[in-house]
Amino acid sequence: MSSGGRDRVDITGVGIDRVDLDGAARAVAELAARAPVSEPAVPAAAYVCTPNAEILMEAQKDVLLKRILNEADLVVADGAGVVLAARLLGHGRIPRAPGFDLVRTLFSDAGAYPLSFYFLGGRPGVAEAAALRIAENYPGVRVMGWHDGFFSEDDEPTLIEGINESGADVLLVALGAPKQEKWIYRNREKLRAPVCIGVGGTLDIFAGTATLAPPSFRARGLEWLYRLYREPWRARRMLRLPQYVLFTLYWRFLRR
Ligand code: UDP
Repeated sequence: MSSGGRDRVDITGVGIDRVDLDGAARAVAELAARAPVSEPAVPAAAYVCTPNAEILMEAQKDVLLKRILNEADLVVADGAGVVLAARLLGHGRIPRAPGFDLVRTLFSDAGAYPLSFYFLGGRPGVAEAAALRIAENYPGVRVMGWHDGFFSEDDEPTLIEGINESGADVLLVALGAPKQEKWIYRNREKLRAPVCIGVGGTLDIFAGTATLAPPSFRARGLEWLYRLYREPWRARRMLRLPQYVLFTLYWRFLRR
């Protein structure tokens, strides 16, 4: 699958970009370099999705989610399950670019990617704590503002005004998937930030309210196992992972 200069593979009906972390960071910087959203020149914010296998499984039942993923400007393989699915479908090895690592690359390479950010999401206090820790750990990264992720629809116009007034290049939306993807999609014509990224629980990790799986787990693609241990209540939802592996085999061998 190749369109608009993108090299994508079709994974159960969703186009995933064959990019590694550096490629993804460069693509975000290119999207952010576009002018801020303003009718009619740039009608909507670009957006980046970071799906894992759970979300690809959900997209089979949720037509809107599938459309949102397929209309995104960049879709990276967040989890080992997506990489496995690509192999089972005969696409060979595709690179992984987890959302957290993508954001960390943008922060740690602030010289190469001089971007400014707005953080939206997490429980009250989380986005602010993340901003403070990032200021300490990643000098050079400009965080223009933040807001927690528990707001009502009535609050949205004021919230979006605040985001737009901040002048941030990149809006990180951490409302959990697929809520964040749907929020971005619904509001992309009102947001002036050139690019939005759905980043799940990433702000919790930067804030220190959640921990990243140890490197030995990450290297083996076992983040899901660590997560199951830390957040056992997610077990039901995580059943979508083996379900998705079976679905991938069905997609390849039995679907007519
Ligand atoms: N969250 C939020 N608003 C909501 C629901 C969730 O800001 O209405 C936040 C929550 O506090 C957490 C993140 O969204 O920081 C969800 O993280 P999770 O790891 O569950 O996301 P996933 O990786 O499943 O997309």
